[in-house]
Amino acid sequence: MVEKMYDYLIVGAGLYGSVFAHEAKKRGKSCLVIDKRPHIGGNCYTERIEDIEIHVYGAHIFHTSDKDIWDYVNQFARFNRFINSPIAKYHDRIFNLPLNMNTFNELWGTVTPEQAKQKIKEQTEKYKDIKPTNLEEQVLYLVGEDIYEVLIKSYTEKQWGRKCYELPPFIIQRLPIRFTYNNNYYDDSYQGIPINGYTDMIKNILVGIEVRLNTNFFEEYKNFRKYANKLVWTGMIDEYYSYKFGRLQYRSLRFQTEKLNIDNFQGNAVVNYTDSYTPFTRIIEHKHFNFVEQETTVITREYPLEWNYGEEPYYPINDEKNNLIYNEIEKQAKKDTDVIFGGRLGNYKYYDMDKVIRKSLDDAKKELGK
Ligand code: UDP
Repeated sequence: MVEKMYDYLIVGAGLYGSVFAHEAKKRGKSCLVIDKRPHIGGNCYTERIEDIEIHVYGAHIFHTSDKDIWDYVNQFARFNRFINSPIAKYHDRIFNLPLNMNTFNELWGTVTPEQAKQKIKEQTEKYKDIKPTNLEEQVLYLVGEDIYEVLIKSYTEKQWGRKCYELPPFIIQRLPIRFTYNNNYYDDSYQGIPINGYTDMIKNILVGIEVRLNTNFFEEYKNFRKYANKLVWTGMIDEYYSYKFGRLQYRSLRFQTEKLNIDNFQGNAVVNYTDSYTPFTRIIEHKHFNFVEQETTVITREYPLEWNYGEEPYYPINDEKNNLIYNEIEKQAKKDTDVIFGGRLGNYKYYDMDKVIRKSLDDAKKELGK
């Protein structure tokens, strides 16, 4: 087959690549999007079982305070009013998340914000003079030992496969603390899940764009300059450079999905298992993301694991060692002006979906003009 020349070869049909392709097409550019997987959507990919949209690569809840991004995604999907209110199960006890007045009441019996603050003051007294340099110190400094033990320590160590004192404090900044009885995990102005699933949303973003699935860049398009003027790379950036600057570490996940002949397994979309003996970190019950009423349900247990070649990478591990490697790679990436790197894997950053879209729109604007 004689290949035509494209303006952009885009590797990865996830959010970054799809949005970039959409923006390029809008400005009259030709794009080819390739993905080694058999589907579009990257890790946002959802698949329908009966009336339930299954989040195949783990829970994806869209939330943003960026009005432009909210308007942008609403062009491609209708969103429901899902509010993320996960609960944590520790042995036989249940706690509301994020850390809020309900959690403090369940843990200590405190009722007023004043009482909760007093309790936290007692809990953190011992740590008040430390300057937190790792996640463990950060949590002890902020909320003290009880919360660290019951809700953070084991969950985090299972999730990252490292001790809390080996992890950077910023990971925990994703977990808000508030002194109201508000179980909404996110502080953002907008939140929801596409009613017809993320796959449908991304299909709409990619309308009119040539997409080739089951297509491996390294096997078929490594000499991309033969096919396109520029490359958009959303895969692992260390792999793009054939690991010549070293190997970055990633965290991977294994999912165990089960259909059950009961209508409601856990009464909530997300239940975190914060003890150390349960080998998985959470169970999601997909029907609750879309308020589906049917007699059966589908649940997924999520087991974190270290990434090894051949597995899907999910999370960059932005500790000091990896960031040093990434900084070297980034220096080279800046010199390679015919390649644009994007997404969680291309930028080695723990982005949320809205941040990925924002970055893709900004990069497209920089590259292509308004
Ligand atoms: N976390 C925790 N206990 C919980 C939930 C979260 O200790 O019950 C910590 C953990 O370190 C985790 C981080 O908060 O890595 C961010 O969690 P979140 O669920 O927001 O991240 P996700 O994995 O969904 O991106």
